[in-house]
Amino acid sequence: MFSDVRVRCERPPAADLGQKGFQASNASVTLWSLLCLLTILVTTSIILTGCSRGSNPIALFEGQWISDIPFTYSIGNSEYTIPHDNRIYESANFLIFSDASGDGVKKTIAIIAETKLQELKQAFDIPSSEELGITGRSTKIMIYANRNMLSRDTQYFPCGIILYSLDSRYWVDVDPATDPPILDIESFPRFFKHELMHVFQHLLGLGLDGYDDWPEVWFSEGIAEYVSGGTFFYFATMTDVNSWLAQADHVNPISIGSFQDYPVPLERVGEYYPMFHLAVRYLLSEEGNGKNLNDAKKLYEALRNGDTFADAFETNMGVSPDYFEENFYDLLSQFLQ
Ligand SMILES: [Zn+2]
Repeated sequence: MFSDVRVRCERPPAADLGQKGFQASNASVTLWSLLCLLTILVTTSIILTGCSRGSNPIALFEGQWISDIPFTYSIGNSEYTIPHDNRIYESANFLIFSDASGDGVKKTIAIIAETKLQELKQAFDIPSSEELGITGRSTKIMIYANRNMLSRDTQYFPCGIILYSLDSRYWVDVDPATDPPILDIESFPRFFKHELMHVFQHLLGLGLDGYDDWPEVWFSEGIAEYVSGGTFFYFATMTDVNSWLAQADHVNPISIGSFQDYPVPLERVGEYYPMFHLAVRYLLSEEGNGKNLNDAKKLYEALRNGDTFADAFETNMGVSPDYFEENFYDLLSQFLQ
């Protein structure tokens, strides 16, 4: 089961970064290149025909291969460096690392990453990457795409994400005969955008010194599900809600303020995500609470300025978290009728 874990990051100092030439690829190039070229063409044509307000989409996808940058982050006082294949793809806002994914896969991930970041910037009305603190290679978002990870477990931290790769062996192992496998182009972009939303919250200034100013879990995960379209089930009716509620350890989702509040073990927290998603969808829908992502952005600003979550929420969502929790099912039943 999917879970995402928060860790802290250590950006490599800029002086340690440098382009030291190309290294030989480890990829099984031929078929992959074909598959990936196709994917890139399809993805790019979707992007080019979609709307991209005021920016040149082509420029976003120009990239280069670099090497000799460590992928380092820390949890508490422990620092971790994950080995990688030393063939890093650098795009406008991202550095794409991997253990074993090929060149085409890394480039495709970079396209997905740039597209999803662009969508978030537009949704939250952020005009430039500089406003998010991305000013050069040493401040780009680090992505580690793990081909050999046999699950969908992910980690995010203030400047990056570790997640399964587009060509993860999680998929290959379903049927080894299909190696190279079908790229997970259907769900990977949603998983990626969910995690990117957490990083985006960091880039907006939250969670940089511990997580005291982080929104409550239900809101943080709910908004990540909301902007990504959802990584799991999408609840659209009260029948969905009621059958979810029928399970004994499914409690009011708005009561999950911190990680310790989950009545289910770590590997089952994903069961709560469709409900978190629904809660935020209600808050940010015209047919629901009538607020929008700009109000969510103001909520973040209030948190960054030291407000409690309860105060920041009430000021910007128009109701108190207590009211929302107590009336959650009544509000949903009106919203979903
Ligand atoms: Zn999450």
